[in-house]
Amino acid sequence: MQKMCLGIESTAHTFGVGIVTFSGEILANVKSTFQTEKGGMIPIEVANHHEKVKQTIFDKALKEANCTIKDISLIAVAVAPGLSPCLFVGLNFAKQIAKENNLPIVGINHSIAHLTIGNLVCKINDPVYLYVSGPNTQVIAKSGNKFRVFGETVDVGLGNMLDKFAREIGLGFPGGPKIEQLAKKGKNYIELPYSVKGMDVSFAGMLTKALRSKAEKEDLCFSLQETSFAMLAEVAERALAHTGKKELLLIGGVAANKRLGKMLDEMCKARGANFFAVPLEYSGDQGVMAAWQGILQYKAGERTDIAKLDIRPYERTDEVDVIWSS
Ligand code: AMP
Ligand code: MG
Repeated sequence: MQKMCLGIESTAHTFGVGIVTFSGEILANVKSTFQTEKGGMIPIEVANHHEKVKQTIFDKALKEANCTIKDISLIAVAVAPGLSPCLFVGLNFAKQIAKENNLPIVGINHSIAHLTIGNLVCKINDPVYLYVSGPNTQVIAKSGNKFRVFGETVDVGLGNMLDKFAREIGLGFPGGPKIEQLAKKGKNYIELPYSVKGMDVSFAGMLTKALRSKAEKEDLCFSLQETSFAMLAEVAERALAHTGKKELLLIGGVAANKRLGKMLDEMCKARGANFFAVPLEYSGDQGVMAAWQGILQYKAGERTDIAKLDIRPYERTDEVDVIWSS
């Protein structure tokens, strides 16, 4: 039987367990996401959710992979960055499993795992990454042995901007998919601030102007998408030109947006590059990415003393040494 890694994710709203073989075959992806009727996430409440579901998610993942814990060779756990109470649930659970079964353990950075799972499922190696989630909007690429952030939002993330607009006009949460549907019916382009500063983008002015506008909501949704997505296409193109890389990979929750994918695909085609978007299952938070990132680090020779493994709530993407080769 192939060697397998069991990965645990608990950095924020999702508790997930993934099982992946050392050659990259995904055998299980089971998760549970904390939700509220209204209001946001209170870290302690989210951690309680994770505590409650952890054993069930773990059991379901082994069942889905059709194996037992005796078949697992490595435990990986996301220890950075994230909400401390949530990170502790995953770390303590991972340590318990590793100790009980005498397994090696590896701690991984969640943001980096978002990038490397994209490489695995899209079968690419060294792209420019456009990472657009609720809070994040970043253009990232590997340079030397670090993932560098080439550009990012100077205020809100694109997903949060779309969610805020949707909430204010009464569309509910999450707003991104609803805006995408309404935008299809938009006919008139309403001029909104197009704000690119070097490699950075800003969405706050656009949001304010759209909220103050009296235009039809379909036209506003259409114009918000066209303007913000064009800004992202511009900075992504500049990153491709600057780094000489030939692939663009779209990751994060907003990657589900078909219009964004189409604009980026057209930009890539025009300059002889290839565009990829991470499929929805693997673009949000899950344990598969922790498992695969653990395998990359373990295969590159990383060995961790279980007693010393701790959470790193504030670790940045560009602080991690890339010791693995793909
Ligand atoms: P994440 O933070 O990666 O979990 O992604 C969640 C964000 O993705 C939320 O802000 C959603 O509104 C946004 N999102 C999800 N689907 C779409 C879509 N089809 N178009 C635009 N945004 C989306
Ligand atoms: Mg995430």
